[in-house]
Amino acid sequence: MLRSGSALRRGLPRAGGAPGRGMRSADMFRELGLRLRLMGRTLQDQLSPLAPGTGSWGPPGVPRDPQPPEEADVVVVGGGVVGWSVAYWLKALEARRHGMRVLVLERDPTYSRASTVLSAGGIRQQFSLPENIHMSRFSASFLRNINEYLGVPNEPPVDIQFQPSGYLFLASPQDAEGLEATVKVQREEGVQVTLLSPAQLKDKFPWIDTEDVAVASYGLEDEGWFDPWTLLTALRRKAMSLGVLSCAGEVRGFVTSAEDLMPPRGPDPLSARIKRIHVYMQDSLEYQPVTCAIVVNAAGAWAGELLETAGLPEALRQPLPIQPRKRYIFSWHCHDGPGLSCPFLIDTTGAYFRREGIAGNYLGGMSPPEEEEPDPSDLSVDHSYFQEQVWPRLARRVPAFSSLRPGSSWAGYYDHNSFDRNGVVGAHPRLSNLLVAAGFSGHGLQHAPAAGRALAELVLKGRYETLDLSRLGWSRLVQREPLVEGGVV
Ligand SMILES: Cc1cc2nc3c(=O)[nH]c(=O)nc-3n(C[C@H](O)[C@H](O)[C@H](O)COP(=O)(O)OP(=O)(O)OC[C@H]3O[C@@H](n4cnc5c(N)ncnc54)[C@H](O)[C@@H]3O)c2cc1C
Repeated sequence: MLRSGSALRRGLPRAGGAPGRGMRSADMFRELGLRLRLMGRTLQDQLSPLAPGTGSWGPPGVPRDPQPPEEADVVVVGGGVVGWSVAYWLKALEARRHGMRVLVLERDPTYSRASTVLSAGGIRQQFSLPENIHMSRFSASFLRNINEYLGVPNEPPVDIQFQPSGYLFLASPQDAEGLEATVKVQREEGVQVTLLSPAQLKDKFPWIDTEDVAVASYGLEDEGWFDPWTLLTALRRKAMSLGVLSCAGEVRGFVTSAEDLMPPRGPDPLSARIKRIHVYMQDSLEYQPVTCAIVVNAAGAWAGELLETAGLPEALRQPLPIQPRKRYIFSWHCHDGPGLSCPFLIDTTGAYFRREGIAGNYLGGMSPPEEEEPDPSDLSVDHSYFQEQVWPRLARRVPAFSSLRPGSSWAGYYDHNSFDRNGVVGAHPRLSNLLVAAGFSGHGLQHAPAAGRALAELVLKGRYETLDLSRLGWSRLVQREPLVEGGVV
């Protein structure tokens, strides 16, 4: 409402009346424009507290409300691509608009260590596990139609800078049978993928040295890479436009219903619910308790640590074998390297690369063997790893790379599931209102749109409808039945 005595009242026409004497129509329209702008601002001020997240949203790093609310229906711990995807789908699928208060908590709004923004940005259909293929198929369709999902009225359309390009997996004679079996599964799932003999490979990509390659698989559609930051911010922008609340803070404690039991008490209960979480604000020893109905652990590489440090009673603990594993990405320039048709190449040795733009720039890396895992306590880069391990392998495969010029590099964390290198999606076996979506072990960026939708369905409907991810649930960990993905890079 405009306050009485507003400057706007001076010299303005009376409502419905003629312009004041001597007022030119240009002045009148200018005054009218000013009045409308002020009315808009006043309305925005009045509406924002009523419907947080509906009026405007800022980029990541600009928390809108430094204090979390005292209550939320669903609290999502972790504001990476998985957390924001879960939040977006919860609001997109909720039965009644503004029926549910969803809160995303992120301890580092600068995302300085988040896997999402430090990833290589790739999406592929070539997995060995049907669930991973289904998620990739869903996500490819989501990315293709991203503005239908994540477009926001009066905001610029989303452009994730998708670069279509097949993944090319090279197999040595000892791995050839395995690759062929995997391709069979992929084709049964409808993936467009072709097998290439060494001669066909040489014919298609003359710059490859095919020595020791027995067979290769090459994706024909829905593969390539895109900008991870754009996907993250687009999910966040859309989710907040639908009313999701965002707050900077670290979750360090869960208070469960088990703690309600008064003495004398028997043995600790084997199941309970989380009643409250404790959120520590940045640079503060104070915490804000948030009462909640459901908690989603989307803390990425730290999803296991979150459960370790949440102060759960011993009887309710279930280890989640997800931990940060440091991975480097190196970039380089090579003026006579592969051109526009360069695929995302995965060598027989595990070294990989793709082009970056079209001006002779590339990026790549390689996961080390288990016994040579680098210390994950910081994100420093070991440049000798490129010189001694990655470069020689790539130069052997692509002779032009012998004369490459090394460029910049960075390190990020794989959200490594040491049990079977696959995501864990679903409910905790002992805490009935705790769900997890984490541990995607190097393929979580591309699977986030799909995993977010699946988890939201589980929360809202109690079952999977679009994608059945029940085999990725927690029970395989409890029953010690690994669900192995053969195609982890
Ligand atoms: C070098 C590299 C290359 C990769 N390449 C690809 C690729 O090509 N394709 C692909 O699909 N995937 C790739 N990945 C993997 C992908 O990046 C991850 O699987 C994905 O980003 C995981 O998303 P997330 O949201 O679970 O994790 P994150 O992006 O790490 O988000 C988790 C967030 O949780 C926050 N958090 C943690 N604990 C707490 C807490 N207690 N309270 C509040 N907040 C908390 C963290 O600060 C973090 O921001 C790559 C990863 C790396 C490191």
